[in-house]
Amino acid sequence: MYSHFRKTLPLAVAAALLFSAALVHAHEAHVHGVGKLDVALDGQTLSLHLDSPLVNLVGFEHAANSAKDKQAVQAMTNTLRNAGAVFVTSPSAECKLNGVKLESAALDPALLGEAAAAKPAAQADHDGHADLDADFTFRCAHPERLQKIEVRLFDAFKGFNSIDVQLVTGKRQGAAKLTPAANSITVP
Ligand SMILES: [Zn+2]
Repeated sequence: MYSHFRKTLPLAVAAALLFSAALVHAHEAHVHGVGKLDVALDGQTLSLHLDSPLVNLVGFEHAANSAKDKQAVQAMTNTLRNAGAVFVTSPSAECKLNGVKLESAALDPALLGEAAAAKPAAQADHDGHADLDADFTFRCAHPERLQKIEVRLFDAFKGFNSIDVQLVTGKRQGAAKLTPAANSITVP
């Protein structure tokens, strides 16, 4: 709903915050159960960046050593690469998934469906925590008809209690906190 959004910052400032967030995300403290989702609509391109503690998605934050661990990562990969079922957009906007990129310092890129990294993946943080960074890109034939994005991460994964959303469009910007009971972003 419209009222979920607080008018916050001028567009340029919000854009700058998104940009700096992308640069420093790996070094911010993370809170288990809480995810961050940056959403940007630029012309026909809808971009979503999810930054989440890995534990929210697979239940652990170490390398996938056992067959069970690998199975959990594979299941996560399959779910997130089918992003049209995770981020459900207004049908009349005709948004089609264009690309998915998954990255975690703790996980082998191949397990995430990515081409092998040129250099070995960095180890998990010294404190034993690790994040998942995921980029999703959609192309919307009618972006002006995009009114809502339902975020089904809460259904797909047990580990999310809340997701902090920052949204920027050509017209407006805002912030919202999603929960299992209120899982939709209203696009202003
Ligand atoms: Zn952690």
